[in-house]
Amino acid sequence: MTKIADQLQLIPPYCPNSRCLFHFGTESKFFVKNGWALTDKPPFKNQRYKCKSCGEHFSANTFGLDYRRRLAGLSENVLHYSLNGMSNNSIARLLDVAEGTIRDRLKEMARQSLYFEKEHLPNKIREDVAYDGFETFTHSQFSPCYVNTAVGSHSMFIYHNTFSPLNRKGRMTEEQKIKNRELILKHGLYPRDSVYEETCYILKNLATIGAGRTLYTDKHKAYERAVHSFTFPMDFETISSERRRDPSNPLFPVNHLHSLYRHFFSSQKRETIAFQKHEAALLEKMQLMKIYRNFMNPKFVRKNKFDPHAHEWSPAMYVGVIDKILNFNEVFGIRKLKTQMKLDQKETNFVNRIYPYSRQVIAA
Ligand SMILES: [Zn+2]
Repeated sequence: MTKIADQLQLIPPYCPNSRCLFHFGTESKFFVKNGWALTDKPPFKNQRYKCKSCGEHFSANTFGLDYRRRLAGLSENVLHYSLNGMSNNSIARLLDVAEGTIRDRLKEMARQSLYFEKEHLPNKIREDVAYDGFETFTHSQFSPCYVNTAVGSHSMFIYHNTFSPLNRKGRMTEEQKIKNRELILKHGLYPRDSVYEETCYILKNLATIGAGRTLYTDKHKAYERAVHSFTFPMDFETISSERRRDPSNPLFPVNHLHSLYRHFFSSQKRETIAFQKHEAALLEKMQLMKIYRNFMNPKFVRKNKFDPHAHEWSPAMYVGVIDKILNFNEVFGIRKLKTQMKLDQKETNFVNRIYPYSRQVIAA
């Protein structure tokens, strides 16, 4: 629920009617105030508006993250707790709400953060990029996966996070082998070329903005195949996994990020009992972490003598897409609508939680 003081300051940024001329926003005053709606929850009053073009009615609430939510104002804490290592269950207990409420807020924020990101994309990369897969699993160890991650070598800006399911291989007990075979009989194998496909997707996105820079990866065959599958305009260098994993290693930015994932996600700690229930939950968390790290926090917490801005500039500032560290409201304050966005197939699937190979039932 939007506070009255906020409502008085709000200038409706767009018309929510997807067929209206003003759906994509306008500088002009396209609306008239149209009284107050009384509600049964605080603040009990809600400014109403009417669009001058299409006649659609809407209210101050329409533009808030808590639109049609029964409990207001939870999201900021949920985001902060979730990205600093608390499980959904602990957050729910701390905030005295149902766990489903936490999941709902994370899901909505993940969508909103994608929309936000679409409006703040770098149009040129002025640094090299490190690329590698973060190995984890969803639901159970029988569903391992990679989160394919592209990170700026200097900025630590996370350019891409996509998902590749893997088929479980390697050492298993007899019991595990039987279980694995049962799952495959029931659901089929996961797509076998996903790492290659996802890498192609990321490389094609990087290609338009990264020409002349170097992409570093490890010696994974799928990465090399992807690089050679089209005219890739970046230089390409593979790094042996035997090379020391210190800051001089070109893959350091991506290794460092992956260690942060292990540190900050309750589900990614070793021997944890928390886990991501399905692909959507994992990817949404990754998406939120991306926005949180890129836009809402400095590159490093501590001062760094080789990089004097590291403790006061966010990765997005290094990349040049924004000029300050953003707070929660600056990212999530104005809710955007799917109909306002130009999304590709992968992004549409993300928003609609479509994972065709998933072995779990994922609520939309
Ligand atoms: Zn309208």
